[in-house]
Amino acid sequence: MLIVHSDAHRQHAPRYFLVRGAVQQNPEIPERAERLLAAVRDSRNVIVEPDGIRDDVLAAVHTDDYLAFLRDAPAAWAALTGAASEIVPNVHPNRYTTARPQGIVGRAGYHQADTSCPIGPGTFTAACAAAACAVHATRAVLGGARVAYALCRPPGHHAYADIAGGFCYLNNVAIAAALARTVHGRVAILDVDVHHGNGTQGIFYDRADVLFVSVHADPSNYYPYFAGYFEERGAGAGVGANLNLPLPHGTGDAGYLEALERGLDAIRRFAPGLLLVSLGFDASEHDPLGVLKVTRAGFAEIARRVAALALPTVLIQEGGYLSDHLGGLLVAFLGGFEAAR
Ligand SMILES: [Zn+2]
Repeated sequence: MLIVHSDAHRQHAPRYFLVRGAVQQNPEIPERAERLLAAVRDSRNVIVEPDGIRDDVLAAVHTDDYLAFLRDAPAAWAALTGAASEIVPNVHPNRYTTARPQGIVGRAGYHQADTSCPIGPGTFTAACAAAACAVHATRAVLGGARVAYALCRPPGHHAYADIAGGFCYLNNVAIAAALARTVHGRVAILDVDVHHGNGTQGIFYDRADVLFVSVHADPSNYYPYFAGYFEERGAGAGVGANLNLPLPHGTGDAGYLEALERGLDAIRRFAPGLLLVSLGFDASEHDPLGVLKVTRAGFAEIARRVAALALPTVLIQEGGYLSDHLGGLLVAFLGGFEAAR
């Protein structure tokens, strides 16, 4: 399989985030990508570096103000007296206020949804490299490859058009989908990360040309809390092109695959020209952040069923956190996919 990876992800190494008010080590660390890459370094795979990414490709999804913020904020932040090495806002707009302040603290609060998306000096470089991996893999599939895997880090599916959140800065899968739309009239995104892809949903919520299907843990007591419910079916022209399938915490293979089948049915009916998969492994029974109980064999079965759609497919890495099983989950998924094609 074609695998696209960039070492530039190492320039983003967030230090901490808040969990229930307590400072903890940020789990979205470079070792995640190193372990995934090590697991797939063998003769069956071709690993390539991505081409660079153009600003207009990013701007198909993200606002100019937001891209300028990600690029320029570290220098402005570093000029503050007593600032930490990473940008973590201490104030956010609420449901009643929408003003856009000029100072860096207010801008940070405007563009960062939570404390789990700290921005350091190398964050924008790493995020652009991750988006470049997704774009490179998508171009390969648009060019005739049946499947390609983008080892993106940082992940992307919690990022909106102008808001970072949940370890995500640029929405890699959305950027790839926008590119795919320049060739195909309809594209579908299947998100199997344990967390709802709220950013991706938000970006395409009012569009009929991009179907978004997400299977994830019930958000009523889990990130991202404020989105991911079954009732969210899209808006305007996009009504019917958004399908959320939240699962009770503790759900294992059988319940997961049942929901997946509903999602795959929706994708078949939509008949897209290309499929993008937001591939998280944090639904694993072994994931330190996860609340579902999908086994390694379950991930292989998910892959077989996705591959059976027989669509040109781009696999884009999202979450999945450090455990002794992380690399094995990727091997199982790619193996299941290849076996079914
Ligand atoms: Zn996740």
